[in-house]
Amino acid sequence: MECPEDDCTRPASVELHIPWAENRTVCVAHARVLGQRDGVVADPTPGSAAELLED
Ligand SMILES: [Zn+2]
Repeated sequence: MECPEDDCTRPASVELHIPWAENRTVCVAHARVLGQRDGVVADPTPGSAAELLED
């Protein structure tokens, strides 16, 4: 599964819990950016530990 953000083809490996929108699964880089917003919780999905370490 690829990151759904525009022009991003990295593997989606982090689930974001967004209070004002539906949860979405994005790549590590986008999770870092979007996770800065108030109330957003970044939750690495099971099995993604290897990808996180590569980053
Ligand atoms: Zn992305």
